[in-house]
Amino acid sequence: MLVFRQLIDSESCTYTYLLADEESRQAVLIDPVFEQVRRDAALIRELGLELLYTLDTHAHADHVTGAWLLRQRLGSRILIGGQSGAEGADRYLVHGDQVNFGQRFLRVLATPGHTRGCLSYVLDDASMAFTGDALLIRGSGRTDFQQGSAAELYRSVHTHLLTLPASCLLYPGHDYRGLTVTSVAEEKQYNPRLGGALSEADFTGYMNNLGLPHPKMIAVAVPANRHCGRPDNVQGLDNEPDWAPLNFTFAGFWEIQPEWVEEHLKEVQVLDVREPEEFAGPLGHIPGALSIPLRGLEQQLARIARDRPVVTVCRAGGRSARATLILQKAGFQRVANLSGGMLHWRAQHCSVLNAAD
Ligand code: FE
Repeated sequence: MLVFRQLIDSESCTYTYLLADEESRQAVLIDPVFEQVRRDAALIRELGLELLYTLDTHAHADHVTGAWLLRQRLGSRILIGGQSGAEGADRYLVHGDQVNFGQRFLRVLATPGHTRGCLSYVLDDASMAFTGDALLIRGSGRTDFQQGSAAELYRSVHTHLLTLPASCLLYPGHDYRGLTVTSVAEEKQYNPRLGGALSEADFTGYMNNLGLPHPKMIAVAVPANRHCGRPDNVQGLDNEPDWAPLNFTFAGFWEIQPEWVEEHLKEVQVLDVREPEEFAGPLGHIPGALSIPLRGLEQQLARIARDRPVVTVCRAGGRSARATLILQKAGFQRVANLSGGMLHWRAQHCSVLNAAD
């Protein structure tokens, strides 16, 4: 029997897949996300599994892989394509390889085109396949950077993926609309780029005229994934704070969600680092927040309580991330950035004070 879980990182809409052999409890994790390593490790622990390997389908441009951090935490080994350009993996996979976990295994298919090093993984009985960004639900990965090639992607999909059994379930690397799974039969019939009678020329014409902007994470994700997700600064990764459920971001600071902060407002010092007119402006501010704009923060550290954890906030979470680093440098031990700032706080319907109140 197979243990199977589909996990999502809502920030990048990335799917991570946990597969394990029920009897031996040996597990693999496909496309883990750096920021979700705590969640994934907790799930693996609760299910009583032993993580043998992390497998990346390719060197991603939109999120940092959790492969390196999981190896640090759980001792798993890092597997990725030989053509991926990633350094520091434990094993480089090529077409036809097999990855065993307990009595089960995944077969490795080279499916280049989105990137040169893209792999897909097919379960032993061909009941499911993990296609990364080669084949998405009613779509495909883009082909306009990382040595992508629309012609190559067309051939990969038609040679290796749409030739799997019609009932084979296909699990993509992403979905941006909330769809979770498809099948070979379904994509053959309905994929508007690759299905039906569409030719290679139809596909390349389509792909070469997408006109997409570069992914916002590319400048961080690609260099990081070249090292299998190893951060430049690994300080702070070892001592896990226990005062709140925090997420360590790849940028090197701890992040906290609005719901927890609202429930524990009295136990923390909220530090709002926006300009005074923003603090008093239409977005409002969090009840009890201390207002010190970022530009004057270093001179006014004495105003901040040291006996409580500090949660920093700004409009969208950028300036306040900078503030957490300033506070950490100044010796504040318990500091976290409010994820998404006031915009996220308001979107979650947490309580707000306005100047007019
Ligand atoms: Fe990708």
